[in-house]
Amino acid sequence: MNKFLVFLEQRDGIVQQTSIDTWNRVQKIAELQGAAVVSGIIAGPADIRQLESTITGDGVIYHAADESLRLYNQAYYTRLVADTFKGNDCSALFFADTAMSRDFAPRLSVALQASLLTGCMKFDADMPGGCSRPVYSGSLLSTFIPKRSLRIYILSLSTTDSSCSSRGHIDFMELEPQSFTDEPLVSSVNRIVMHEGTPDVAEAAVIVAGGRGMGGAQGFVLLEQLAQLLGGAVGASRSAVDEGWRPHAEQIGQTGKTVSPALYFACGISGAVQHLAGIGSAGTVVAINIDRHAPIFDVADYGIVGDVHIVLPKLLDLFKDFLKTK
Ligand SMILES: Cc1cc2nc3c(=O)[nH]c(=O)nc-3n(C[C@H](O)[C@H](O)[C@H](O)COP(=O)(O)OP(=O)(O)OC[C@H]3O[C@@H](n4cnc5c(N)ncnc54)[C@H](O)[C@@H]3O)c2cc1C
Repeated sequence: MNKFLVFLEQRDGIVQQTSIDTWNRVQKIAELQGAAVVSGIIAGPADIRQLESTITGDGVIYHAADESLRLYNQAYYTRLVADTFKGNDCSALFFADTAMSRDFAPRLSVALQASLLTGCMKFDADMPGGCSRPVYSGSLLSTFIPKRSLRIYILSLSTTDSSCSSRGHIDFMELEPQSFTDEPLVSSVNRIVMHEGTPDVAEAAVIVAGGRGMGGAQGFVLLEQLAQLLGGAVGASRSAVDEGWRPHAEQIGQTGKTVSPALYFACGISGAVQHLAGIGSAGTVVAINIDRHAPIFDVADYGIVGDVHIVLPKLLDLFKDFLKTK
């Protein structure tokens, strides 16, 4: 029987939504592949009660609440996950496609002699370890299949699909504290919080992004207000970043970040192919642009032709009224 392990990423003790979506998606894959067993691992102190209402399916979640794991450390995390993987005789390891997983999944693939595919979008139950992911700036989906000789595989999932399998029974198991201090310290991490409580664009479920059409740094105040109202993050096109209106950390696209929010607002963004490369796995795309022929409308689910400075304040008022009724 296949045994899957899911890494559940915590920040400040909160398990990230992208990891919860990954867990739920792996439950679906397990169902498709016929009764695979799913386990999870959380590194560092975390509030596991939050998971009881958000995760689905059956399985065991191991929690290593060691204080030394509170902040990400590549060497410590690799050892913990590799030990859990081997101890449970697993065949596949799944991550949400985040900056953290991209950093330590390659090290794990060496430790476990496993194939590694990152940024996976689609799976085929008949192709264990393989997946499809975007190539050439998102213009094509290409299918990758690991070598037959590599029987263990690691996949990081870039997904907006948070559909759940049926609710089952999850056991939570606290792991014994252990000492990681004999591990060579290969990385030291500084955590820089840009805006307290604001998610990173790479992990946000809602992104309100702006481009040159916002007219200046001041124009982004409206986007910050909308993002705050919806619990989302502000993103930017490269033009807005090059102008110095927003930091590079917010840039979305080929030379910025790849994002997969459930809801993406593109405000005053033309929709150049290099920008679209970053939003290929976004859920619903809403575009606001003064030019009805802007290419962004070709990929948008909803389009508003109009001036952002007129449309956005109205949209803000509508959302405020709507949220008051909730
Ligand atoms: C190698 C390479 C890598 C690149 N990487 C990236 C990347 O990672 N990310 C990225 O975004 N770009 C990237 N680019 C740049 C990309 O080609 C575009 O130049 C850029 O995305 C355009 O940004 P923009 O849409 O904000 O600006 P513009 O193309 O100037 O578009 C501005 C839009 O705003 C609209 N507008 C103007 N005023 C208003 C208003 N008042 N209300 C509503 N709409 C208005 C206009 O109609 C227009 O559609 C890259 C380019 C290259 C060559």
